[in-house]
Amino acid sequence: MSRAAIEQLLHAGYGDRTIARRLAVSIGTVRRTRTLLRLPAGRPGPKAAGTPADVFWTRARHTDSGHMEWTGTAHRGTTPSLRHGGNRYSAYRVAFTIAHGRAPVGRVEPGCGHPGCIHPQHVEDRAMRDQYTAIFGDAA
Ligand SMILES: [Zn+2]
Repeated sequence: MSRAAIEQLLHAGYGDRTIARRLAVSIGTVRRTRTLLRLPAGRPGPKAAGTPADVFWTRARHTDSGHMEWTGTAHRGTTPSLRHGGNRYSAYRVAFTIAHGRAPVGRVEPGCGHPGCIHPQHVEDRAMRDQYTAIFGDAA
């Protein structure tokens, strides 16, 4: 399990036990990472779903192959989606915003070749795809 995944959940404000369970790592690993990052201890108990990203983390699950799959509902049977504050969000778009700190441009889809992957580090928007095409050409 990558430390980046632990860091993401720590920064999202989750408690050690929740992170350990979600990522299938030992609680000691989570605590060591928290200490390394000098983050304060997480509050125990369920976390209120304050943002779409909070809802995202409650429905995203790491797979053994290093990707993430959606355990929530899919809009029109295809696009993983979540509801927050009466609005529907694409899980791809929320994942993108978590990883990049900006709203995506155009369509967001997995760039890792794993269908349905919603790993924040694996999804790409149109701007990223255009950039790859400019650097590597259309061969990819
Ligand atoms: Zn992936």
